[in-house]
Amino acid sequence: MLSKKKNLRKMEKSQKEITSTFGSRYFTESVPKYEMPEEGMPPRAAYQLIHEELNLDGNPALNLASFVTTWMELEADKLIMESMGKNFIDNDEYPQTSKIQDRVVNMLARLFNAPHECKSVGTGTIGSSEAIMLGLLAHKWTWKKRRQKEGKPFDKPNIVMGADVHTVWEKFALYFDVELKLIPLERDNYTITPEDVAKEIDENTICVGVVLGTTFTGQMDPIKEINQLLIEIKQTKGWDIPLHVDGASGGFIAPFVYPEMEWDFRLEQVKSINVSGHKYGLVYPGVGWLVFRDKKDLPDELIFKVNYLGGLMPNYSLNFSKGSSTIVAQYYNFLRLGKNGYKDIMKTMMANCKYMAQKLEESGKFEVINKDLMFPLVTVQLKGADFTVFELSQKLREKGWIIPAYTLPPDAQDVEVMRMVVKENFGRDMVDSLLADIMESYDGLEKSETKEKDRDNLTLLY
Ligand SMILES: *Cc1c(COP(=O)(O)O)cnc(C)c1O
Repeated sequence: MLSKKKNLRKMEKSQKEITSTFGSRYFTESVPKYEMPEEGMPPRAAYQLIHEELNLDGNPALNLASFVTTWMELEADKLIMESMGKNFIDNDEYPQTSKIQDRVVNMLARLFNAPHECKSVGTGTIGSSEAIMLGLLAHKWTWKKRRQKEGKPFDKPNIVMGADVHTVWEKFALYFDVELKLIPLERDNYTITPEDVAKEIDENTICVGVVLGTTFTGQMDPIKEINQLLIEIKQTKGWDIPLHVDGASGGFIAPFVYPEMEWDFRLEQVKSINVSGHKYGLVYPGVGWLVFRDKKDLPDELIFKVNYLGGLMPNYSLNFSKGSSTIVAQYYNFLRLGKNGYKDIMKTMMANCKYMAQKLEESGKFEVINKDLMFPLVTVQLKGADFTVFELSQKLREKGWIIPAYTLPPDAQDVEVMRMVVKENFGRDMVDSLLADIMESYDGLEKSETKEKDRDNLTLLY
């Protein structure tokens, strides 16, 4: 009885505090936007102001544009909060966090089937972007060292990839001064082929980039065939060109849904793989992973040994300070879910994605571009509508759904698509709600188009 009363009093007290915030001057004055205010404000007021403003953001759960995780379990949230204050780089002060990163790398190397005789190494990153930069940089370095040793020029490195790669690959070429040999995509074939690659590679190629689950259509480059080509090139021409697999989204799907499919370290020329922990690794943003097949694929010169924070710590990264939370959270997921847990989640997502694709096709209004549906996303084109996917996407935004519309990369730039990424918390019921809203928006747009036309016709008649 007493504690009930106490609780009530506590509630009343906090109620009062909220009321006083809303009744305070902070809610009648505009918030500071350009200059840091001279004086601060009570924590509740600062919180409430920012909290209310952030309601203007989209709802992450309705955001089908992004692959990035929007939900984690309470226990993960707790671990994340507990690690918030730990700077990952201080690994002498936080040695256990550092060990946890290494365990995750070990588990990933095995998940990606690194051969037993290899000593795989790797690192946690802010995301796949940093991982890709670091992976490619290592290959550039290896190539340069080899050329130098052979007494050959090393001033014209190039990198070969398809236009289906993520924008970060082009960023790498620009920032690290490597010639970009971008293979255009054909209409109806939105990936590259081994023949395309054969035409572009030469002795100056530092690496060939392939994608497991492209951002545009969720398809996969023919990695096994390209690996075969590079093996033949190595035998006939002596060029040992590594393959880097961008498994940003696919790297956590393929091992669980297609364990037999060879795309990883089972292929001889695959020397490095990146994967986004914050995509289907099921961790909040930002965590990514880079794994090298073997220690020798990461040149020693690139590993920095900083000694002023205590012990000597080897480090391969672009950033210095960063949080530890997401690395801890990744480990939590590995322990909590295990392989079977991941498998169940991936299979559920795939089932919901297939259901959505099937319903969209059946409606007769859409054509699914990624018919093989290897990864849990659906990319569709409109079939003979009088309006565009851009208008439909806009219409859906009015209902809260965030679904991007865009054109495909060259030479398929005339193909306009809409893409929906299915995440773990997007259940069957949500799929049905989305489908209903898509159909309603479609009909709405169709009606307004017809009205428009009728009006045009009337004008003509008079
Ligand atoms: C998301 C994505 C990236 C970029 O990864 P981040 O983790 O967002 O930095 C790179 N490549 C592909 C294929 C992606 O899907």
